[in-house]
Amino acid sequence: MNEKEFEKLLLSVQKPGRYSGGELNSVVKDKEKVKIRFAFCFPDTYEIGMSHLGMKILYSQFNEREDIWCERVFAPWVDFEVLMREKGIPLFALESRDSIKDFDFIGFTLQYELCYTNLLNMLDLAGLPLKSADRPSLSPLVVAGGPCCCNPEPLADFVDLFFLGEGEEVDLEVIDLYREFKEKGAGKEEFLRAAAKIEGVYVPSLYDIEYFEDGRIKSVTPKDGAPAKIRKRIMRDMDSSYYPDRFVVPFIEIVHDRAVQELFRGCIRGCRFCQAGFIYRPVREKSADTVNRQAKALCENTGYDEISLSSLSTSDYTCLEPLLNKMLLWTEPQSISLSLPSLRVDNFSAELLGKINHIRKSGLTFAPEAGTQRLRDVINKNVTEEEIFRTCKTAFEGGYTAVKLYFMLGLPTETDEDLKGITDLGRRIIDLYYSLENRPVGKSPSVSVSVSTFVPKPFTPFQFEPQIEKEEIERRQNVLKYSNTCRKVNISWHDSSVSFLEGAFARGDRRLCAVLEAAFKKGCKFDGWNECFNLQKWLEAFDENGIDPLFYSARKRDFDEINPWDHLDFGVTKDFLIRENKKAHSAKITPNCREKCAACGAACFGEGVCFEKR
Ligand code: SF4
Repeated sequence: MNEKEFEKLLLSVQKPGRYSGGELNSVVKDKEKVKIRFAFCFPDTYEIGMSHLGMKILYSQFNEREDIWCERVFAPWVDFEVLMREKGIPLFALESRDSIKDFDFIGFTLQYELCYTNLLNMLDLAGLPLKSADRPSLSPLVVAGGPCCCNPEPLADFVDLFFLGEGEEVDLEVIDLYREFKEKGAGKEEFLRAAAKIEGVYVPSLYDIEYFEDGRIKSVTPKDGAPAKIRKRIMRDMDSSYYPDRFVVPFIEIVHDRAVQELFRGCIRGCRFCQAGFIYRPVREKSADTVNRQAKALCENTGYDEISLSSLSTSDYTCLEPLLNKMLLWTEPQSISLSLPSLRVDNFSAELLGKINHIRKSGLTFAPEAGTQRLRDVINKNVTEEEIFRTCKTAFEGGYTAVKLYFMLGLPTETDEDLKGITDLGRRIIDLYYSLENRPVGKSPSVSVSVSTFVPKPFTPFQFEPQIEKEEIERRQNVLKYSNTCRKVNISWHDSSVSFLEGAFARGDRRLCAVLEAAFKKGCKFDGWNECFNLQKWLEAFDENGIDPLFYSARKRDFDEINPWDHLDFGVTKDFLIRENKKAHSAKITPNCREKCAACGAACFGEGVCFEKR
């Protein structure tokens, strides 16, 4: 298809900018001069994928190498997919518009379980067989990284190898090994056996899984020299690790349309529901000088007038105030806004608020996660009601009127009293506002309460817990709804069916591959999107394969059961997770890493907060 025909085709779809390529800072190379072509695939829309920091880092890092050309690929929205299939257009990379079928690597980043059908759909659109076993040649090699790789078993039949942990080093080691094997004409199996010896690489086809009659896993046996445990990789020194000095700047609006500067990786907190808080351990910070220098370069090279300081808990950054002082020296004269997402309630100071106020005033967002102190102790969210009220008072007196609060529903041990505590907290925050003499004049306050459904995830202390079932989720949503008596408190929540699917796949094993394939063949895709999600088709796919999704999601797991992810090593030990689970059931909190080390196991990486003086 020539350029004119392609342009004409784009005129008939929503947001043609999703597919056009050619954005500022996108990388175009001479394909005759590169040795490796890498299709970096984000299994969701352009707007979501283009907001993802990991993709920005690896895209730039790969393209710094002369021998590699890394291009971007996103899941086409349903309107464009229809046209692609009608006209026989295979899935293409944005930079060259070449079909990704002929690339060396097709690499997916897996950010959430509800994108798995999109991965299959993208392989199918590329004209490739879905199953790894049906793709016998070395290229294209289908690889995946990202947080879902801490339990990649539901994708074990489709992906040739998974990267565990942070990709900056291990990805390039695998690419170099591949190049060596390709040049000597070696086959895929030989390559996979060699790749499995690189730390951080998991090749699922090299593990045999046996099951008990009741469906639990009996054993996981490595073969052909593959390691019994596969340890994730981390970047040890964040100051010397790669960070791009420019991002591709989109033509169309994307979800996070701003420069993003990473402050640190990991989290000191240990909230017991939060997978990110465990799988990215230990905390490793960048120095304020590095952050300042990198942020400045990004703004200069992208033209963005807003920069976000990103991490799992921004106010835990030990150099935050000195950093803000340094950054204000150049952001202020250039009218560049600073935004600080992921602030915690308990260390949100008036000084910090003053600095944010200096630049930008918008709504405040906090995540108390549970409505009562008892339940906040169960989940180890070490935030007291007093701190929440003190912070809201500071914020209201500083001119804020809108507060957004995030909570979870269905947490282990949750009662109706805990749910009523959520709306009660919202109402009392509104009361607090009206009790303040120096509140903003002539303005009305609002509290938005956003309630997501708790999904137990691997590598958290709640990995053993049952997820509540759909009917119970809906009953509890009603408890919340009817307990809200204040018109200034608005509650919103997510669809319970989607949480149910997420729950099954988060802790699923490789028998779910058949369910996934059946769902895909029935037309499931974009399952995270309400307008596309089809529960009925999913239920049929489970049923046809004789698999009960509740076996994975709603079952309490014994501590000694072999989980599908137990042969993967993310640093935190199972013993630690069991200790934390027991503490949760007695509502006992665990101090954060900077107060006292809880010996989680992540010190094995020899770096980060584990070695700081307390
Ligand atoms: S070993 Fe201790 S300091 Fe290090 S991440 Fe684990 S709990 Fe935190």
